[in-house]
This record gives sequence, C-alpha cells and structure tokens, in this order.
Amino acid sequence: IFDEYTIKSLIRPVPDFPKPGIVFRDITPLYHSPRAMRMVADSLIQRYVESPVTHIGAIDARGFLLGAVLAYELNKPLVLFRKVGKLPAETLCEAYETEYGEAHLEVHKGALGEGDQVLLLDDLIATGGTFLAAASLIKQMGAEVYEAAAIIDLPDLGGSRKMQDADIPVFTLCAFE
Ligand code: 5GP
Repeated sequence: IFDEYTIKSLIRPVPDFPKPGIVFRDITPLYHSPRAMRMVADSLIQRYVESPVTHIGAIDARGFLLGAVLAYELNKPLVLFRKVGKLPAETLCEAYETEYGEAHLEVHKGALGEGDQVLLLDDLIATGGTFLAAASLIKQMGAEVYEAAAIIDLPDLGGSRKMQDADIPVFTLCAFE
C-alpha cells in the first residue's frame, strides 16, 4: 500500500542549495530505503501496467533511476533525455529556463516516432521547464506524451499547472507547498 507520509518523511529539505533562498528537496534518503522505493516503483508500475504506453522516457539524471525500473518492469524501450553534450550520436536539442538559469535537453534523433506513446519520468516538477522541453522533443519526433510522472510536485512553482495547460497529463506521488 502506498503511504504518502512515509515517502514525504524520506525527502529531506536542504536550505540554500544550490543557491541561497532555494530549498532543495533531496530524495537520496528515499533511495536509501528499499521499502519506500518499492512503494514508489510499485505505484507507478500499477498505474501504467495496462496503459497504452509504448516507451519510457527518462530525464537526466534522477529520472534515469525510475526510468530503468519502469522500463524493466513494463518491458518497454527506454529513451534517455540528457543534459547537453552527453549523447554521442546525432541529437535533437531543446533550450529551456530553469529555477537556476538556461539549460538544454537532448535526445537521439529517431529514438521515437509516429504513434509512440511515451511515459516521461523525472524525480520532481518545479517550474516544469524540463518536462516541457522533453515533451517538445517528443512532439518533434512525431510521438506523444502519454503522461509525465514524478515523485514530487512543487505546486507553488506552477510547473504542473503549466504542463496541464499545455495538454500534458501529469501524475505525481506527493507535493510540498
Ligand atoms: P523544472 O524544470 O521543473 O524547473 O525543474 C525540475 C528539474 O530540476 C528536475 O530534473 C529535477 O531533478 C531538478 N530539480 C529542481 N529542483 C529540485 C529539487 O528541489 N530537488 C530535486 N531532487 N530536484 C530538483
């Protein structure tokens, strides 16, 4: 059974990281708990096991940890959305704004195509910029975002709202106001 209280208690607030004034939500204590991680993985697996999802899209870097588990359990291809300069072959690139400045996300050309239904995974939604950049790359390849899922939503930063306004379905396991 999913216990939101347990999950939230394992997410550690770190004040002034990576910049003064920002409270970083550190999920490493959650990854340290096999019981809690199993809860997280099992809720996501249950949610998508009978969905029409064809591909798992995982976002660099904490999204990779969830992405690998979901791709394995759902037996679907795993597509990596990486920070700039990490993917070796030809890429598509999308620039976006974060809480901390400009960033870029890349994906290998041809990793997805027409008709693909992608489950996008990351650890946290802040401004939504990262997920929106990944969604734009998915659309450029002719594929669709089935849903964007994360462990944590920070609703005060407006990202999940912005994504829903852009017709991207959003699913999160907990929120910090
Ligand atoms: P966004 O693009 O929604 O503004 O920021 C989300 C991205 O930045 C995610 O890839 C996430 O890993 C990272 N991020 C931003 N703030 C935090 C935070 O407080 N905790 C964690 N774990 N990741 C964060």
